[in-house]
Amino acid sequence: MNTIATTILAAVIALTSPACDAASPEQTQPKEARKTTMTQRTISDSGHDITPLNEEQVQILAAKLDPETFRVTQKSGTERPFCGTLLDNKKDGTYTCTVCDLPLFSSEHKFTSGTGWPSFYREYDPQHVRKIVDKSHGMVRTEIECTRCGAHLGHVFEDGPKPTGMRHCLNSASLKFVDEGDLPEPDAAPAKHATAYFAGGCFWGIEHYFQEGPGVVEAVSGYMQGSTEDPTYREVCSGTSGHAEAVKVVFDPDVISYETLLKAFFMMHDPTQLNRQGPDRGTQYRSGVYTTDAEQLAAAKAFVKTLEENDRFPSKIVTEVEPADTFYPAEDYHQDYIETTGRRCHVTNPWPILEQEMASKDVAAPSSP
Ligand SMILES: [Zn+2]
Repeated sequence: MNTIATTILAAVIALTSPACDAASPEQTQPKEARKTTMTQRTISDSGHDITPLNEEQVQILAAKLDPETFRVTQKSGTERPFCGTLLDNKKDGTYTCTVCDLPLFSSEHKFTSGTGWPSFYREYDPQHVRKIVDKSHGMVRTEIECTRCGAHLGHVFEDGPKPTGMRHCLNSASLKFVDEGDLPEPDAAPAKHATAYFAGGCFWGIEHYFQEGPGVVEAVSGYMQGSTEDPTYREVCSGTSGHAEAVKVVFDPDVISYETLLKAFFMMHDPTQLNRQGPDRGTQYRSGVYTTDAEQLAAAKAFVKTLEENDRFPSKIVTEVEPADTFYPAEDYHQDYIETTGRRCHVTNPWPILEQEMASKDVAAPSSP
């Protein structure tokens, strides 16, 4: 999530909390958001142009729709159950927006829900489907619409199958089925992202400052390097599951290097404290760098060695450096915790120094004649 998105998200959470049990606050935006004029082109992670269309562009597309499709997509209508044309479609392919052709769902994630409407446990790309709190008909539900053209698609419920537990309940009229192989090429090559994991005591502050890093797409608080599956905060706090509070950092290697992330991490926390960080004590607060490939492992080991050789810290570095095990995202209320609560934390902000360093490298690097 970039800084703008984070700011918008924080504003949305501030507006909607605490009554947000009907929908995950993530990606949930007020309906008015669609009217925002955006001039910048937005490309999704899967490489599709998701820049919102303006009202005039939508009107031109909507004029070509048959009356039923118009009613469903433009007037938030619902088709009768067991009547849609795509309910029993078992073919391999992609379900695109009937109005603007943006890929929305894949046959890979379709399942028989028994409800009478086509159901999917996951989106083709989460950035293509927008969630909105819908309070019509005396219920609080989460409406889903096409991110690009705002077409009404259906609703999403939290009673779906594993692995997501989500049921995207669709109107067939909102979808167009495209056979496998017939899907047009995306507008741009998907962005290349890499992932790194760091544990430096309580994850709230570590997540917060990684999220602020230039080139960081997303920082997520979670648990890893333990012995049980899908642990809860309570289990991790008890120390019996062996997990460390850790942060997953998704970044664009073209903007920020893994080495700069390592630098940031060792500025944020004290790597000489064994199984504690500030007032927090316990193995869940241990210092760790968990790597995703051999290159990261070698880079992290070399980085720690250099810090030790340069006596950068007054005592021995106790940070564990090892390959990453499964990362389990923490409960929703731990995500963006500093941002949403405004609490302070013990973590040092590394970016004023590192951004200067990155900028000076940028200036020095290009070839001067
Ligand atoms: Zn659309």
